[in-house]
Amino acid sequence: MCGIVGYIGKKDARSIILDGLQKLEYRGYDSAGVGLVGNGEVKIYKDKGRVAHLKELVDTSFETHVGIGHTRWATHGSPTKMNAHPHTSQSGRFTIVHNGVIENFRELKARYLSGYSFKSQTDTEVIANLLERYFNKYGSFDRAFSKTLSRLEGSFALLILDNTNLDTIYFAKNKTPLVVGIAEDGIVFGSDVIPLAGNAKKYVSLDDGVKGKATKDGVEFTDFVGLQEDIEYKELDITADELTKGSYPHFMLKEINEEPSVVRKLVQEYFDEDDIVINEKLLETIRNCDKINLVACGTSMHASYMAKYFFEKFCEIPTEVFCASELVYSTPLIKDNPCFIFLSQSGETADSIACMKKFNDQKFPIIAITNVPSSTMVSIADFHLDLHAGPEVAVASTKAYTAEVIVTCILAKAVRGKKTHLSYNLEKCAVAMEEVISKAPIIEMMAKQIMDASDVFFIGRGIDYWACLECSLKLKEVSYIHSEAFPSGELKHGTIALIEKGTPVITICTQEGTNPIVRNNLVETQARGSKPFVISTESLSVASDAIDIPNVNHYLSPLISVIVGQLLAYYVATLKGNDVDKPKNLAKSVTVE
Ligand code: GLU
Repeated sequence: MCGIVGYIGKKDARSIILDGLQKLEYRGYDSAGVGLVGNGEVKIYKDKGRVAHLKELVDTSFETHVGIGHTRWATHGSPTKMNAHPHTSQSGRFTIVHNGVIENFRELKARYLSGYSFKSQTDTEVIANLLERYFNKYGSFDRAFSKTLSRLEGSFALLILDNTNLDTIYFAKNKTPLVVGIAEDGIVFGSDVIPLAGNAKKYVSLDDGVKGKATKDGVEFTDFVGLQEDIEYKELDITADELTKGSYPHFMLKEINEEPSVVRKLVQEYFDEDDIVINEKLLETIRNCDKINLVACGTSMHASYMAKYFFEKFCEIPTEVFCASELVYSTPLIKDNPCFIFLSQSGETADSIACMKKFNDQKFPIIAITNVPSSTMVSIADFHLDLHAGPEVAVASTKAYTAEVIVTCILAKAVRGKKTHLSYNLEKCAVAMEEVISKAPIIEMMAKQIMDASDVFFIGRGIDYWACLECSLKLKEVSYIHSEAFPSGELKHGTIALIEKGTPVITICTQEGTNPIVRNNLVETQARGSKPFVISTESLSVASDAIDIPNVNHYLSPLISVIVGQLLAYYVATLKGNDVDKPKNLAKSVTVE
Protein backbone atom coordinates (compact mmCIF):
# COMPACT_ATOMS: atom_id res chain seq x y z
CA MET A 1 0.00 0.00 0.00
CA CYS A 2 1.14 3.57 -0.68
CA GLY A 3 4.26 4.53 -2.57
CA ILE A 4 7.38 6.63 -2.65
CA VAL A 5 9.41 7.93 -5.59
CA GLY A 6 12.40 10.26 -5.55
CA TYR A 7 14.95 11.48 -8.05
CA ILE A 8 18.17 13.45 -8.01
CA GLY A 9 20.28 13.83 -11.15
CA LYS A 10 20.52 15.45 -14.53
CA LYS A 11 17.09 14.53 -15.93
CA ASP A 12 13.73 16.18 -15.33
CA ALA A 13 12.75 15.16 -11.79
CA ARG A 14 9.10 16.19 -12.26
CA SER A 15 8.31 13.66 -14.98
CA ILE A 16 10.32 10.82 -13.42
CA ILE A 17 8.55 11.29 -10.08
CA LEU A 18 5.02 11.83 -11.41
CA ASP A 19 5.28 8.95 -13.90
CA GLY A 20 6.84 6.81 -11.16
CA LEU A 21 3.94 7.55 -8.81
CA GLN A 22 1.54 6.58 -11.56
CA LYS A 23 3.37 3.28 -11.98
CA LEU A 24 2.94 2.67 -8.25
CA GLU A 25 -0.79 3.38 -8.38
CA TYR A 26 -1.48 -0.35 -8.33
CA ARG A 27 -0.41 -0.32 -4.68
CA GLY A 28 -3.52 1.64 -3.71
CA TYR A 29 -3.65 5.16 -2.24
CA ASP A 30 -5.97 8.03 -1.47
CA SER A 31 -3.84 11.15 -1.96
CA ALA A 32 -0.66 12.13 -3.72
CA GLY A 33 1.98 14.82 -3.53
CA VAL A 34 5.43 15.95 -4.63
CA GLY A 35 8.14 18.25 -3.33
CA LEU A 36 10.23 19.56 -6.24
CA VAL A 37 13.37 21.65 -5.95
CA GLY A 38 13.19 24.66 -8.26
CA ASN A 39 14.58 28.22 -8.17
CA GLY A 40 16.38 27.47 -4.90
CA GLU A 41 13.39 26.26 -2.90
CA VAL A 42 11.17 23.22 -2.40
CA LYS A 43 7.82 23.64 -4.12
CA ILE A 44 5.11 21.41 -2.72
CA TYR A 45 2.02 20.24 -4.62
CA LYS A 46 -0.39 17.82 -3.04
CA ASP A 47 -4.06 16.86 -2.84
CA LYS A 48 -6.34 13.96 -2.24
CA GLY A 49 -7.25 11.88 -5.27
CA ARG A 50 -5.38 10.46 -8.19
CA VAL A 51 -1.89 11.19 -9.52
CA ALA A 52 -3.56 12.33 -12.76
CA HIS A 53 -5.12 15.15 -10.72
CA LEU A 54 -1.77 15.93 -9.06
CA LYS A 55 -0.22 16.20 -12.53
CA GLU A 56 -2.67 18.98 -13.34
CA LEU A 57 -1.69 20.89 -10.19
CA VAL A 58 2.06 20.81 -10.68
CA ASP A 59 3.60 23.92 -12.20
CA THR A 60 5.68 22.94 -15.22
CA SER A 61 7.34 26.31 -15.79
CA PHE A 62 10.49 25.75 -13.72
CA GLU A 63 13.47 23.44 -14.16
CA THR A 64 13.81 20.70 -11.54
CA HIS A 65 16.36 17.94 -11.07
CA VAL A 66 15.68 16.99 -7.46
CA GLY A 67 12.41 15.91 -5.88
CA ILE A 68 10.45 13.51 -3.71
CA GLY A 69 6.94 12.13 -4.29
CA HIS A 70 4.37 10.13 -2.40
CA THR A 71 1.08 8.31 -2.72
CA ARG A 72 -0.60 8.10 0.66
CA TRP A 73 -2.76 5.34 2.05
CA ALA A 74 -4.01 7.15 5.13
CA THR A 75 -3.29 5.52 8.47
CA HIS A 76 -3.33 8.59 10.74
CA GLY A 77 -5.73 11.34 9.74
CA SER A 78 -8.30 11.23 6.98
CA PRO A 79 -7.36 11.52 3.32
CA THR A 80 -7.30 15.32 2.92
CA LYS A 81 -5.02 17.78 1.20
CA MET A 82 -3.60 18.82 4.59
CA ASN A 83 -2.73 15.24 5.54
CA ALA A 84 -1.25 14.42 2.12
CA HIS A 85 2.54 14.25 1.91
CA PRO A 86 5.08 15.90 1.69
CA HIS A 87 5.02 17.37 5.18
CA THR A 88 7.36 20.07 6.38
CA SER A 89 8.88 20.77 9.76
CA GLN A 90 7.55 23.79 11.66
CA SER A 91 10.08 26.25 10.20
CA GLY A 92 9.72 24.76 6.72
CA ARG A 93 13.34 23.67 6.66
CA PHE A 94 12.77 19.91 6.25
CA THR A 95 10.39 18.37 3.71
CA ILE A 96 9.56 14.72 4.14
CA VAL A 97 7.61 11.86 2.57
CA HIS A 98 6.94 8.73 4.57
CA ASN A 99 5.43 5.32 3.96
CA GLY A 100 4.62 3.35 7.05
CA VAL A 101 3.35 3.91 10.56
CA ILE A 102 5.11 5.53 13.54
CA GLU A 103 3.62 3.56 16.39
CA ASN A 104 4.88 5.84 19.18
CA PHE A 105 4.06 9.15 17.48
CA ARG A 106 1.72 10.25 20.31
CA GLU A 107 4.39 9.71 22.96
CA LEU A 108 7.00 11.47 20.83
CA LYS A 109 4.72 14.43 20.29
CA ALA A 110 3.87 14.73 23.96
CA ARG A 111 7.37 14.18 25.25
CA TYR A 112 9.61 16.05 22.82
CA LEU A 113 7.46 18.33 20.69
CA SER A 114 5.22 20.22 23.09
CA GLY A 115 6.34 23.60 21.71
CA TYR A 116 5.67 22.66 18.09
CA SER A 117 2.53 23.39 16.13
CA PHE A 118 1.23 20.78 13.71
CA LYS A 119 -0.63 21.31 10.46
CA SER A 120 -1.79 17.72 9.91
CA GLN A 121 -3.02 14.77 11.92
CA THR A 122 -0.36 12.47 10.53
CA ASP A 123 2.29 10.54 12.40
CA THR A 124 4.70 11.69 9.67
CA GLU A 125 4.76 15.33 10.71
CA VAL A 126 6.19 14.19 14.04
CA ILE A 127 9.27 12.90 12.20
CA ALA A 128 9.76 16.24 10.44
CA ASN A 129 9.54 18.20 13.68
CA LEU A 130 11.67 15.78 15.63
CA LEU A 131 14.36 16.21 13.00
CA GLU A 132 14.11 19.96 13.32
CA ARG A 133 14.24 19.80 17.12
CA TYR A 134 17.42 17.71 17.07
CA PHE A 135 18.95 19.79 14.31
CA ASN A 136 18.40 22.89 16.44
CA LYS A 137 20.01 21.07 19.34
CA TYR A 138 23.05 19.53 17.60
CA GLY A 139 23.58 21.81 14.61
CA SER A 140 24.42 18.77 12.44
CA PHE A 141 22.03 17.04 10.05
CA ASP A 142 23.71 13.65 10.43
CA ARG A 143 23.49 13.70 14.22
CA ALA A 144 19.92 14.98 14.17
CA PHE A 145 18.92 12.28 11.64
CA SER A 146 20.48 9.47 13.71
CA LYS A 147 18.86 10.75 16.87
CA THR A 148 15.45 11.06 15.21
CA LEU A 149 15.65 7.53 13.81
CA SER A 150 16.65 6.16 17.20
CA ARG A 151 13.41 7.55 18.63
CA LEU A 152 11.05 6.08 16.01
CA GLU A 153 9.15 2.85 16.65
CA GLY A 154 7.28 1.38 13.75
CA SER A 155 7.74 1.19 10.02
CA PHE A 156 9.11 3.82 7.72
CA ALA A 157 10.54 4.45 4.29
CA LEU A 158 11.59 8.09 4.33
CA LEU A 159 12.86 10.61 1.81
CA ILE A 160 13.87 14.01 3.15
CA LEU A 161 14.94 17.34 1.67
CA ASP A 162 16.78 20.03 3.63
CA ASN A 163 16.17 23.48 2.14
CA THR A 164 19.65 24.69 3.09
CA ASN A 165 21.24 21.83 1.13
CA LEU A 166 19.05 21.23 -1.87
CA ASP A 167 21.39 18.98 -3.81
CA THR A 168 20.92 16.04 -1.46
CA ILE A 169 18.11 13.57 -0.73
CA TYR A 170 18.32 11.84 2.65
CA PHE A 171 16.66 8.47 3.13
CA ALA A 172 16.05 5.77 5.73
CA LYS A 173 14.27 2.43 5.82
CA ASN A 174 12.71 0.20 8.43
CA LYS A 175 10.09 -2.51 7.74
CA THR A 176 8.63 -0.69 4.73
CA PRO A 177 10.28 -1.29 1.35
CA LEU A 178 12.60 1.21 -0.30
CA VAL A 179 14.81 0.59 -3.31
CA VAL A 180 17.54 2.82 -4.72
CA GLY A 181 18.28 2.69 -8.44
CA ILE A 182 21.54 3.87 -9.94
CA ALA A 183 21.58 5.40 -13.41
CA GLU A 184 24.40 7.13 -15.29
CA ASP A 185 22.63 10.43 -14.86
CA GLY A 186 21.32 10.16 -11.32
CA ILE A 187 19.70 8.27 -8.48
CA VAL A 188 16.06 7.09 -8.41
CA PHE A 189 14.12 5.93 -5.35
CA GLY A 190 11.03 3.76 -5.34
CA SER A 191 8.88 1.63 -3.07
CA ASP A 192 9.66 -1.16 -5.49
CA VAL A 193 11.63 -1.47 -8.70
CA ILE A 194 8.73 -0.54 -10.97
CA PRO A 195 9.37 3.24 -11.04
CA LEU A 196 13.04 2.45 -11.71
CA ALA A 197 12.25 0.66 -15.00
CA GLY A 198 13.66 2.72 -17.85
CA ASN A 199 15.47 5.00 -15.37
CA ALA A 200 18.11 2.76 -13.76
CA LYS A 201 20.19 -0.26 -14.71
CA LYS A 202 21.05 -1.55 -11.26
CA TYR A 203 19.45 -1.19 -7.89
CA VAL A 204 19.70 -2.05 -4.24
CA SER A 205 16.78 -3.10 -2.11
CA LEU A 206 17.56 -1.61 1.29
CA ASP A 207 17.71 -3.70 4.44
CA ASP A 208 16.01 -2.51 7.61
CA GLY A 209 18.18 -0.13 9.58
CA VAL A 210 19.84 1.50 6.58
CA LYS A 211 19.93 5.26 6.01
CA GLY A 212 21.94 7.40 3.65
CA LYS A 213 22.21 10.38 1.37
CA ALA A 214 22.14 10.73 -2.40
CA THR A 215 23.53 13.49 -4.59
CA LYS A 216 23.58 13.60 -8.37
CA ASP A 217 27.03 11.98 -8.27
CA GLY A 218 26.31 8.98 -6.04
CA VAL A 219 24.88 7.46 -2.87
CA GLU A 220 26.28 6.75 0.58
CA PHE A 221 24.74 4.09 2.81
CA THR A 222 25.21 3.77 6.56
CA ASP A 223 23.40 2.18 9.45
CA PHE A 224 21.24 4.42 11.65
CA VAL A 225 24.24 5.26 13.81
CA GLY A 226 26.37 6.27 10.85
CA LEU A 227 28.61 3.26 10.24
CA GLN A 228 29.33 2.38 6.63
CA GLU A 229 27.02 -0.36 5.17
CA ASP A 230 28.09 -2.84 2.51
CA ILE A 231 25.65 -2.75 -0.33
CA GLU A 232 24.99 -5.37 -2.97
CA TYR A 233 23.61 -4.10 -6.27
CA LYS A 234 21.38 -6.19 -8.50
CA GLU A 235 20.73 -5.85 -12.22
CA LEU A 236 17.30 -4.45 -13.03
CA ASP A 237 15.58 -6.82 -15.44
CA ILE A 238 12.18 -5.14 -15.88
CA THR A 239 11.69 -3.13 -19.04
CA ALA A 240 9.42 -0.11 -19.29
CA ASP A 241 7.28 -2.00 -21.91
CA GLU A 242 6.23 -4.64 -19.39
CA LEU A 243 4.47 -1.94 -17.45
CA THR A 244 2.13 -0.76 -20.18
CA LYS A 245 -1.27 -2.16 -21.12
CA GLY A 246 -0.22 -2.69 -24.73
CA SER A 247 -3.32 -3.21 -26.83
CA TYR A 248 -5.50 -4.25 -23.86
CA PRO A 249 -8.04 -1.90 -22.30
CA HIS A 250 -7.04 -2.98 -18.77
CA PHE A 251 -4.09 -4.56 -17.01
CA MET A 252 -6.35 -7.24 -15.54
CA LEU A 253 -7.32 -8.49 -19.01
CA LYS A 254 -3.71 -8.28 -20.19
CA GLU A 255 -2.53 -10.27 -17.20
CA ILE A 256 -5.19 -12.98 -17.66
CA ASN A 257 -4.08 -13.25 -21.29
CA GLU A 258 -0.47 -13.62 -20.14
CA GLU A 259 -1.23 -16.73 -18.08
CA PRO A 260 -0.34 -19.27 -20.79
CA SER A 261 3.03 -17.59 -21.26
CA VAL A 262 3.61 -17.62 -17.49
CA VAL A 263 3.09 -21.39 -17.56
CA ARG A 264 5.65 -21.75 -20.36
CA LYS A 265 8.10 -19.43 -18.64
CA LEU A 266 7.91 -21.53 -15.47
CA VAL A 267 8.59 -24.71 -17.44
CA GLN A 268 11.61 -22.97 -18.96
CA GLU A 269 12.88 -21.75 -15.59
CA TYR A 270 12.33 -24.85 -13.48
CA PHE A 271 12.94 -27.73 -15.90
CA ASP A 272 15.93 -29.12 -17.70
CA GLU A 273 14.19 -31.50 -20.12
CA ASP A 274 12.06 -33.60 -17.72
CA ASP A 275 14.20 -32.89 -14.67
CA ILE A 276 13.22 -30.27 -12.15
CA VAL A 277 15.95 -27.83 -11.19
CA ILE A 278 15.53 -26.61 -7.60
CA ASN A 279 18.16 -26.02 -4.93
CA GLU A 280 18.89 -29.43 -3.35
CA LYS A 281 19.22 -27.97 0.15
CA LEU A 282 15.73 -26.54 -0.10
CA LEU A 283 14.38 -29.92 -1.19
CA GLU A 284 16.20 -31.67 1.68
CA THR A 285 14.73 -29.17 4.15
CA ILE A 286 11.23 -30.14 3.07
CA ARG A 287 12.03 -33.86 2.93
CA ASN A 288 13.36 -33.68 6.49
CA CYS A 289 10.37 -31.92 7.95
CA ASP A 290 7.39 -33.70 9.45
CA LYS A 291 4.88 -30.99 8.74
CA ILE A 292 4.60 -28.25 6.14
CA ASN A 293 2.87 -25.04 7.19
CA LEU A 294 1.71 -22.86 4.34
CA VAL A 295 1.16 -19.24 5.30
CA ALA A 296 -0.53 -16.66 3.06
CA CYS A 297 -3.37 -14.18 2.62
CA GLY A 298 -6.13 -13.68 0.01
CA THR A 299 -5.47 -15.18 -3.41
CA SER A 300 -2.17 -16.67 -2.23
CA MET A 301 -4.04 -18.48 0.52
CA HIS A 302 -6.32 -19.99 -2.11
CA ALA A 303 -3.28 -21.15 -4.08
CA SER A 304 -1.98 -22.62 -0.80
CA TYR A 305 -4.95 -25.02 -0.63
CA MET A 306 -3.78 -26.45 -3.93
CA ALA A 307 -0.24 -26.58 -2.59
CA LYS A 308 -1.47 -28.55 0.45
CA TYR A 309 -3.03 -31.05 -1.93
CA PHE A 310 0.26 -31.38 -3.86
CA PHE A 311 2.45 -31.84 -0.77
CA GLU A 312 0.13 -34.37 0.81
CA LYS A 313 -0.57 -36.28 -2.40
CA PHE A 314 2.91 -36.32 -3.93
CA CYS A 315 5.16 -36.11 -0.85
CA GLU A 316 2.95 -37.63 1.85
CA ILE A 317 3.89 -34.86 4.26
CA PRO A 318 1.05 -33.52 6.44
CA THR A 319 0.40 -29.94 5.40
CA GLU A 320 -1.75 -27.20 6.85
CA VAL A 321 -2.78 -23.83 5.39
CA PHE A 322 -2.78 -20.79 7.66
CA CYS A 323 -4.20 -17.36 7.14
CA ALA A 324 -1.27 -15.12 8.12
CA SER A 325 -3.28 -12.50 9.99
CA GLU A 326 -4.65 -15.22 12.28
CA LEU A 327 -1.48 -17.25 12.64
CA VAL A 328 0.52 -14.37 13.99
CA TYR A 329 -1.80 -13.95 16.98
CA SER A 330 -3.12 -17.46 17.55
CA THR A 331 -0.24 -19.76 16.86
CA PRO A 332 -1.16 -23.44 17.04
CA LEU A 333 0.96 -26.07 18.73
CA ILE A 334 4.13 -26.48 16.71
CA LYS A 335 5.94 -29.75 17.34
CA ASP A 336 9.20 -31.33 16.30
CA ASN A 337 10.33 -30.50 12.85
CA PRO A 338 8.11 -28.17 10.87
CA CYS A 339 8.94 -26.07 7.86
CA PHE A 340 7.15 -22.90 6.78
CA ILE A 341 6.34 -21.94 3.22
CA PHE A 342 5.08 -18.41 2.59
CA LEU A 343 3.26 -17.46 -0.60
CA SER A 344 2.90 -13.82 -1.59
CA GLN A 345 2.79 -12.08 -4.95
CA SER A 346 4.56 -8.95 -3.68
CA GLY A 347 6.64 -10.45 -0.88
CA GLU A 348 5.61 -7.40 1.16
CA THR A 349 2.39 -8.68 2.77
CA ALA A 350 2.65 -7.31 6.30
CA ASP A 351 0.65 -10.09 8.00
CA SER A 352 2.82 -12.75 6.40
CA ILE A 353 6.02 -10.86 7.22
CA ALA A 354 4.99 -10.64 10.88
CA CYS A 355 4.60 -14.46 10.97
CA MET A 356 7.79 -14.96 9.04
CA LYS A 357 9.81 -12.93 11.52
CA LYS A 358 8.29 -14.81 14.42
CA PHE A 359 9.15 -18.25 13.01
CA ASN A 360 12.52 -17.08 11.77
CA ASP A 361 13.36 -15.99 15.33
CA GLN A 362 12.44 -19.51 16.42
CA LYS A 363 14.92 -20.83 13.83
CA PHE A 364 12.36 -22.81 11.82
CA PRO A 365 13.24 -23.19 8.13
CA ILE A 366 11.46 -20.60 5.97
CA ILE A 367 10.79 -20.73 2.24
CA ALA A 368 9.38 -17.70 0.43
CA ILE A 369 7.56 -18.09 -2.88
CA THR A 370 7.08 -14.61 -4.37
CA ASN A 371 6.99 -12.68 -7.60
CA VAL A 372 9.43 -10.02 -6.38
CA PRO A 373 12.98 -11.21 -5.71
CA SER A 374 13.87 -7.83 -4.15
CA SER A 375 11.11 -8.10 -1.55
CA THR A 376 11.28 -8.11 2.24
CA MET A 377 10.08 -11.70 2.48
CA VAL A 378 12.90 -12.91 0.27
CA SER A 379 15.43 -11.07 2.41
CA ILE A 380 14.20 -12.83 5.57
CA ALA A 381 13.63 -16.34 4.22
CA ASP A 382 16.22 -19.13 4.10
CA PHE A 383 15.16 -20.06 0.58
CA HIS A 384 13.30 -18.34 -2.22
CA LEU A 385 11.45 -19.57 -5.29
CA ASP A 386 10.51 -17.03 -7.92
CA LEU A 387 7.05 -16.95 -9.50
CA HIS A 388 8.43 -15.53 -12.78
CA ALA A 389 5.02 -14.03 -13.56
CA GLY A 390 6.40 -10.63 -14.60
CA PRO A 391 5.05 -7.42 -13.06
CA GLU A 392 1.41 -7.80 -12.01
CA VAL A 393 -0.12 -4.34 -12.07
CA ALA A 394 -3.89 -4.89 -11.71
CA VAL A 395 -4.82 -4.96 -8.04
CA ALA A 396 -6.79 -8.19 -8.44
CA SER A 397 -4.21 -10.94 -8.75
CA THR A 398 -4.61 -13.33 -11.67
CA LYS A 399 -1.39 -14.59 -13.22
CA ALA A 400 0.35 -14.73 -9.83
CA TYR A 401 -2.28 -17.24 -8.65
CA THR A 402 -1.50 -19.43 -11.64
CA ALA A 403 2.22 -19.14 -10.97
CA GLU A 404 1.78 -19.98 -7.28
CA VAL A 405 -0.18 -23.13 -8.06
CA ILE A 406 2.41 -24.21 -10.63
CA VAL A 407 5.51 -23.44 -8.55
CA THR A 408 4.16 -25.33 -5.55
CA CYS A 409 3.24 -28.25 -7.80
CA ILE A 410 6.75 -28.30 -9.30
CA LEU A 411 8.22 -28.06 -5.80
CA ALA A 412 6.13 -30.94 -4.48
CA LYS A 413 7.11 -33.11 -7.46
CA ALA A 414 10.78 -32.21 -6.93
CA VAL A 415 10.56 -33.09 -3.23
CA ARG A 416 9.13 -36.47 -4.17
CA GLY A 417 12.05 -36.88 -6.53
CA LYS A 418 10.61 -39.42 -8.99
CA LYS A 419 10.45 -39.00 -12.76
CA THR A 420 7.63 -36.68 -13.72
CA HIS A 421 5.69 -35.73 -16.83
CA LEU A 422 4.78 -32.43 -15.29
CA SER A 423 6.48 -30.26 -17.91
CA TYR A 424 4.47 -32.01 -20.63
CA ASN A 425 1.25 -31.67 -18.60
CA LEU A 426 1.91 -28.00 -17.99
CA GLU A 427 2.36 -27.38 -21.70
CA LYS A 428 -1.07 -29.00 -22.17
CA CYS A 429 -2.42 -26.57 -19.56
CA ALA A 430 -1.01 -23.60 -21.43
CA VAL A 431 -2.85 -24.72 -24.58
CA ALA A 432 -6.04 -25.33 -22.58
CA MET A 433 -5.80 -21.85 -21.07
CA GLU A 434 -5.53 -20.33 -24.55
CA GLU A 435 -8.66 -22.22 -25.51
CA VAL A 436 -10.58 -20.90 -22.50
CA ILE A 437 -9.40 -17.36 -23.17
CA SER A 438 -10.70 -17.69 -26.72
CA LYS A 439 -14.14 -18.42 -25.22
CA ALA A 440 -14.24 -14.94 -23.68
CA PRO A 441 -17.48 -14.02 -25.57
CA ILE A 442 -19.35 -16.90 -23.84
CA ILE A 443 -18.03 -15.72 -20.46
CA GLU A 444 -19.06 -12.16 -21.25
CA MET A 445 -22.60 -13.47 -21.91
CA MET A 446 -22.56 -15.15 -18.49
CA ALA A 447 -21.39 -11.85 -16.99
CA LYS A 448 -24.43 -10.08 -18.48
CA GLN A 449 -26.67 -12.59 -16.73
CA ILE A 450 -25.19 -12.12 -13.29
CA MET A 451 -24.20 -8.44 -13.29
CA ASP A 452 -27.42 -7.31 -11.59
CA ALA A 453 -27.40 -9.98 -8.89
CA SER A 454 -26.91 -8.89 -5.30
CA ASP A 455 -25.53 -12.28 -4.18
CA VAL A 456 -23.68 -14.99 -6.05
CA PHE A 457 -22.67 -18.43 -4.80
CA PHE A 458 -19.88 -20.62 -6.13
CA ILE A 459 -20.05 -24.32 -5.27
CA GLY A 460 -17.81 -27.33 -5.83
CA ARG A 461 -16.04 -30.08 -3.90
CA GLY A 462 -12.36 -30.70 -3.15
CA ILE A 463 -10.14 -29.20 -5.81
CA ASP A 464 -13.15 -27.54 -7.44
CA TYR A 465 -14.11 -25.93 -4.13
CA TRP A 466 -10.62 -24.40 -3.82
CA ALA A 467 -11.02 -23.02 -7.34
CA CYS A 468 -14.45 -21.67 -6.27
CA LEU A 469 -12.81 -19.78 -3.40
CA GLU A 470 -10.56 -17.92 -5.81
CA CYS A 471 -13.30 -17.28 -8.40
CA SER A 472 -15.55 -15.87 -5.71
CA LEU A 473 -12.84 -13.60 -4.31
CA LYS A 474 -12.12 -12.26 -7.80
CA LEU A 475 -15.80 -11.46 -8.35
CA LYS A 476 -16.06 -9.64 -5.01
CA GLU A 477 -12.85 -7.68 -5.58
CA VAL A 478 -13.69 -6.12 -8.91
CA SER A 479 -17.49 -6.32 -9.32
CA TYR A 480 -18.41 -5.43 -5.69
CA ILE A 481 -21.12 -8.12 -5.80
CA HIS A 482 -21.46 -10.09 -2.60
CA SER A 483 -20.25 -13.56 -3.38
CA GLU A 484 -19.44 -16.69 -1.36
CA ALA A 485 -17.79 -19.98 -2.18
CA PHE A 486 -19.08 -23.08 -0.47
CA PRO A 487 -18.25 -26.76 -0.48
CA SER A 488 -21.39 -27.86 -2.31
CA GLY A 489 -22.36 -30.35 0.41
CA GLU A 490 -22.10 -27.71 3.12
CA LEU A 491 -24.57 -25.36 1.49
CA LYS A 492 -27.61 -27.16 2.84
CA HIS A 493 -26.31 -26.85 6.40
CA GLY A 494 -27.49 -23.27 6.60
CA THR A 495 -26.51 -21.09 3.68
CA ILE A 496 -29.08 -22.55 1.29
CA ALA A 497 -31.57 -20.38 3.22
CA LEU A 498 -30.17 -17.44 1.25
CA ILE A 499 -31.01 -18.87 -2.17
CA GLU A 500 -33.85 -16.92 -3.72
CA LYS A 501 -35.49 -16.85 -7.07
CA GLY A 502 -32.79 -15.93 -9.57
CA THR A 503 -29.74 -16.19 -7.24
CA PRO A 504 -26.84 -17.23 -9.49
CA VAL A 505 -25.15 -20.44 -8.33
CA ILE A 506 -21.94 -21.03 -10.26
CA THR A 507 -20.84 -24.64 -10.06
CA ILE A 508 -17.43 -26.03 -10.96
CA CYS A 509 -17.38 -29.68 -12.06
CA THR A 510 -13.99 -30.89 -13.23
CA GLN A 511 -13.55 -34.02 -11.08
CA GLU A 512 -15.11 -37.27 -12.20
CA GLY A 513 -15.50 -38.60 -8.64
CA THR A 514 -17.48 -35.66 -7.31
CA ASN A 515 -19.29 -34.54 -10.47
CA PRO A 516 -22.61 -36.39 -9.84
CA ILE A 517 -22.93 -35.31 -6.22
CA VAL A 518 -22.02 -31.69 -6.93
CA ARG A 519 -24.65 -31.58 -9.66
CA ASN A 520 -27.18 -33.01 -7.15
CA ASN A 521 -26.29 -30.19 -4.78
CA LEU A 522 -26.88 -27.71 -7.57
CA VAL A 523 -30.32 -29.25 -8.24
CA GLU A 524 -31.12 -28.67 -4.56
CA THR A 525 -30.51 -24.95 -5.05
CA GLN A 526 -32.53 -24.95 -8.29
CA ALA A 527 -35.48 -26.34 -6.32
CA ARG A 528 -35.25 -23.08 -4.34
CA GLY A 529 -35.19 -20.92 -7.47
CA SER A 530 -31.46 -20.48 -8.18
CA LYS A 531 -30.15 -19.60 -11.61
CA PRO A 532 -27.52 -22.30 -12.36
CA PHE A 533 -24.26 -21.87 -14.28
CA VAL A 534 -22.06 -24.94 -14.63
CA ILE A 535 -18.38 -24.77 -15.58
CA SER A 536 -17.44 -28.34 -16.51
CA THR A 537 -14.69 -30.17 -18.30
CA GLU A 538 -15.41 -31.43 -21.81
CA SER A 539 -15.59 -35.05 -20.62
CA LEU A 540 -18.21 -34.23 -17.95
CA SER A 541 -20.21 -31.55 -19.69
CA VAL A 542 -23.92 -31.77 -20.52
CA ALA A 543 -25.85 -29.61 -22.93
CA SER A 544 -27.24 -27.22 -20.33
CA ASP A 545 -23.81 -26.31 -18.87
CA ALA A 546 -22.76 -22.69 -19.20
CA ILE A 547 -19.27 -23.41 -20.50
CA ASP A 548 -17.02 -26.40 -21.01
CA ILE A 549 -13.29 -26.26 -20.50
CA PRO A 550 -10.60 -28.59 -21.86
CA ASN A 551 -9.59 -31.61 -19.79
CA VAL A 552 -6.15 -31.46 -18.21
CA ASN A 553 -4.63 -33.55 -15.38
CA HIS A 554 -7.29 -33.53 -12.70
CA TYR A 555 -5.02 -31.86 -10.13
CA LEU A 556 -4.15 -29.01 -12.51
CA SER A 557 -7.78 -28.24 -13.35
CA PRO A 558 -8.00 -25.03 -11.21
CA LEU A 559 -5.45 -23.50 -13.58
CA ILE A 560 -8.18 -23.69 -16.22
CA SER A 561 -11.42 -23.24 -14.25
CA VAL A 562 -10.11 -20.20 -12.38
CA ILE A 563 -9.49 -18.42 -15.70
CA VAL A 564 -13.25 -18.62 -16.33
CA GLY A 565 -13.79 -17.05 -12.89
CA GLN A 566 -11.21 -14.34 -13.54
CA LEU A 567 -12.71 -13.43 -16.91
CA LEU A 568 -16.22 -13.53 -15.45
CA ALA A 569 -15.19 -11.11 -12.70
CA TYR A 570 -13.47 -8.89 -15.27
CA TYR A 571 -16.52 -8.69 -17.54
CA VAL A 572 -19.01 -8.12 -14.72
CA ALA A 573 -16.80 -5.29 -13.41
CA THR A 574 -16.36 -3.62 -16.79
CA LEU A 575 -20.08 -4.00 -17.64
CA LYS A 576 -20.84 -2.24 -14.36
CA GLY A 577 -18.37 0.51 -15.26
CA ASN A 578 -16.06 -0.20 -12.30
CA ASP A 579 -12.41 0.82 -12.16
CA VAL A 580 -11.32 -2.76 -12.77
CA ASP A 581 -7.56 -2.32 -12.32
CA LYS A 582 -7.93 -0.27 -9.13
CA PRO A 583 -11.01 -1.49 -7.33
CA LYS A 584 -12.29 0.64 -4.46
CA ASN A 585 -10.93 0.03 -0.95
CA LEU A 586 -8.22 -2.36 -2.16
CA ALA A 587 -4.45 -2.14 -2.47
CA LYS A 588 -2.11 -4.42 -4.34
CA SER A 589 0.36 -5.10 -1.56
CA VAL A 590 -1.20 -5.00 1.86
CA THR A 591 1.74 -3.63 3.79
CA VAL A 592 -0.12 -2.85 7.02
CA GLU A 593 -1.23 -5.50 9.53
N1 GLU B 1 1.23 7.00 8.32
C1 GLU B 1 1.37 8.00 7.31
C2 GLU B 1 0.09 8.76 7.08
O1 GLU B 1 -0.98 8.36 7.50
C3 GLU B 1 1.88 7.40 6.01
C4 GLU B 1 0.87 6.51 5.36
C5 GLU B 1 1.42 5.86 4.11
O2 GLU B 1 2.24 4.94 4.24
O3 GLU B 1 1.01 6.26 3.02
O4 GLU B 1 0.14 9.79 6.50
